[in-house]
Amino acid sequence: MSPPSLIDTHPNLGGAAPVALSYELFPPRSPAAAESLWTTIGELEATDPDYVSVTYGASGSNRSTAVELINRLVQETTLRPLAHLTCVGNSPQELAEIIGELLDVGVRGILALRGDRPKDGVTPPPGSLRYAQDLIELIRRVEQRRSALLCAGKVAVGVAAYPTRHPESPSEAHDIEVLLAKQRSGADFAITQVFFHTEQYADLLTRARRAGVTIPIIPGVMPLTSLRRLARLGELTGVEPAPELIERLAAADTDAERTRIGVSATVDLANAALAAGAPGIHLYTFNEHAAALDVLDKLALPRPRSGNRGNRQGGNRHGAGRISASRRAASQLAS
Ligand code: FAD
Repeated sequence: MSPPSLIDTHPNLGGAAPVALSYELFPPRSPAAAESLWTTIGELEATDPDYVSVTYGASGSNRSTAVELINRLVQETTLRPLAHLTCVGNSPQELAEIIGELLDVGVRGILALRGDRPKDGVTPPPGSLRYAQDLIELIRRVEQRRSALLCAGKVAVGVAAYPTRHPESPSEAHDIEVLLAKQRSGADFAITQVFFHTEQYADLLTRARRAGVTIPIIPGVMPLTSLRRLARLGELTGVEPAPELIERLAAADTDAERTRIGVSATVDLANAALAAGAPGIHLYTFNEHAAALDVLDKLALPRPRSGNRGNRQGGNRHGAGRISASRRAASQLAS
């Protein structure tokens, strides 16, 4: 029997794990949208997230705006981008080029997705990647070819996970098998699809761990403040919004009341996920900061101390949103 390692004899060497904070943004569709997005980016940056993810149109149509936004995030902010990439709409050669382009601008995190198939039922051209799993393998291959440029470092590859059955999947058990396959192909972490019931994240985590999925699974939560957006979300993702939340939002008389109801529901989802052991919170922002920051203000996220981003609280249980609020107040005082 070998002697216990130093790490085994000091189980608390690392201390309590901090909770990761991240946001999702999408590339702007017009100059006006870009202007308001950059206001949002400034507000979110002040909360010192670990990364911000940038979505990618499944048709590949927003490739240039996505890469441009990512480039600006790298060049002009302290934010670390996580670039979404989809198999649908791009040939393997194009995808390899895009991955190279992303690595060249300094991206070190990619969310590997299949993307939604076009509704017109057009069959993908022969040779197309079929599943997110194939894209993970392609990313790893491109990474390997550039290992010297990356100082042999790794690209963090994330994937999607589903608290409720993916619309094309025969069962939730199949979704877990797919998640396990993505882990085996080299996924480092997963971010979940939106969900509306507090028990759904814990349930996914239990099923995934039982099946052998060991990677972090980060709950994706969305400020649930708009009826129109909830309906659209249901259409896009196939996830049915909770009827009681819809009823409460519909009965509200003012936007302020809807915001209060929606933010409170989102905080409940995030807190339930944290109680179940979530290693982070990923906020779907829809390129708007107000509701996301409201949610953050009401969460008590244990956030790490930043070594290089200036005046930041850490090591204790402070909501990152409160840090943001104090920073905003400080910058208003300074201006
Ligand atoms: P996959 O993991 O490939 O799964 C797709 C389907 O195929 C599933 O039904 C699965 O069960 C099945 N499957 C997978 N592998 C196998 C296999 N080996 N054998 C048999 N069946 C298999 N879409 C965008 O277009 N752009 C984005 O930026 C974007 N960002 C997203 C971010 C997050 C966090 C999430 C959760 C989703 C995002 N989506 C995005 C949506 C996503 O593209 C869709 O949900 C898509 O339908 C499935 O993508 P996937 O990566 O989960 O695919």
